[in-house]
Amino acid sequence: MTRKCPPLSCVTLLALSLVLAAKPFARAQAASSTSKLSVRWEELTASDFRDGIRRSQGTCLLPFGILEKHGPHLPLGTDLLDVRYAALHAAEEEYAVVFPEYYFGQIAEARHEPGTMSYSRNLQLALLQETTDEMERNGCKKVLIVNGHGGNEHLLPYFAQSQLDKPHDYVVYIFDKRTPQHGGPAKKTTVDMHAGESETSKMMISRPDLVHPDRAANESGADQARQKLPEDIYTGIWWYTRFPFHYSGDGSAATKELGEYQMKWWIDSVVKAIRAVKADDVSLKLQNEFYEKSAHPLDTQP
Ligand SMILES: [Zn+2]
Repeated sequence: MTRKCPPLSCVTLLALSLVLAAKPFARAQAASSTSKLSVRWEELTASDFRDGIRRSQGTCLLPFGILEKHGPHLPLGTDLLDVRYAALHAAEEEYAVVFPEYYFGQIAEARHEPGTMSYSRNLQLALLQETTDEMERNGCKKVLIVNGHGGNEHLLPYFAQSQLDKPHDYVVYIFDKRTPQHGGPAKKTTVDMHAGESETSKMMISRPDLVHPDRAANESGADQARQKLPEDIYTGIWWYTRFPFHYSGDGSAATKELGEYQMKWWIDSVVKAIRAVKADDVSLKLQNEFYEKSAHPLDTQP
């Protein structure tokens, strides 16, 4: 049976139903105009990207990871997963646009282990240069590389230094700290460089589902100290001579409490780095002055 209503009531009902139907739409519109911008480059629309660059004052993060064995108990992408966790949380606190997953760094020393992606040195530098150049072309005048992988510790300063070889209209900054030197819950281990107590603890925060603490003691992460050379002599094989299983420390000592402390320290440190980079109005100016002088060194005085 069709319900009958007097003409006036029908009009009222129709008006009411239109208002009700319009309400969620109006709410959705309001939400999208005031919605917060994602910090993730790949999640922004083209026009939101423009707003993001403006809001970040041209400051973009490039979290830098790697694919390599992490002991017997952590995933190959540990460094990338951890550094992105820290960088994304930091950028939420101090807005910056964060470049997508990047893991094309230096890891020749783990070529003997399964799952390692070890690009040639020319490609590492060329790809990084094109990546930061392209970031700059899109408005990132300040590129802050947040390093998550110890094997990049020489590559990245070298890359930054090599920016002086020809003019670039942007500055490359590097933040390369991951673990506080002191504070927080007392640590149980002394050797702790790779997949050990600290790194395993941090993974318990960023991706606890990928940590296998029960396997952490399946291999030895002890320092085998097989190379007998003075400390001030460097060789590329040094890491393998000490840690042939690509494991340094003991992941079974990890705790969530240590992870919480270290991850919070890391995020806070990246926030501070973003703020310092945003406030820096000296580097680009002096970099340009340097390029200008470099074009005619004989005129440089005194
Ligand atoms: Zn690592």
